[in-house]
Amino acid sequence: MRYFGLRNSVNVLTFKFRNHDKEHYECPICGYRGPFLDKVTYNGIRKHARCPNCSALERHRLQFLVLQEVLGKKETAHLRMLHVAPEAFFRDFFSQRFDQYETADLKMKGADHIVDLQHLPFSDNTYDFVFASHVLEHIPDDRKAISEIRRILRPNGMAVLPVPIYSEKTVEFSEPDPNEFGHVRAPGLDYFDRYQPYFSKVERFDSGSQPEKYQVFVYQEDCRPSKTENLALTSMPCRKLTDVVPVCYV
Ligand SMILES: [Zn+2]
Repeated sequence: MRYFGLRNSVNVLTFKFRNHDKEHYECPICGYRGPFLDKVTYNGIRKHARCPNCSALERHRLQFLVLQEVLGKKETAHLRMLHVAPEAFFRDFFSQRFDQYETADLKMKGADHIVDLQHLPFSDNTYDFVFASHVLEHIPDDRKAISEIRRILRPNGMAVLPVPIYSEKTVEFSEPDPNEFGHVRAPGLDYFDRYQPYFSKVERFDSGSQPEKYQVFVYQEDCRPSKTENLALTSMPCRKLTDVVPVCYV
């Protein structure tokens, strides 16, 4: 398991906030260079979050850089891919790389497959690559979903399954939290341990391993107390938070 400098402490996870207002960034997804837009959230403003050209956020830029690294030198054209909860700005990248590119979602119009990840309607060994970002925090029986993703993967298959990171330890909610996008848990850095029983190897790539020009950090400026008791754990001082992209190998 590689951590790329990520250490198991919330304190060292964070960095002093610096004023980047006059700085320009680069979007690795669309190639845009210039200032990024702030994002207004329900409890504050996230600085330099959105690419004004393709709308990608911090996490998407990090994911894209990691995808380029792990898929970069692989010959993937003959492989079959399932893109869960498909983000528009990743479709070109994936469909150019995988001749057999399919999308899936619980309810998204236009997806190739309408599926519940806890009960996938696919045979064992169907796909070579599964990408599902910010999905598992919505799923009550997430371990069943992880085992289902593993079940449909072929030998030598790979899954990239990022979730939002709130703290060091994962907190399970008693019910979906309407103030937090209906999430049923706030994943912590320990969340990716849940993948390990199902995969031979889980690599973790963190935002600290990427160049600053891509602005892959989340600047946590929403320092006011959260609207929900579930997320009291995130009411930390203003800081720059690390994100993690886990890459799981069959
Ligand atoms: Zn962009």
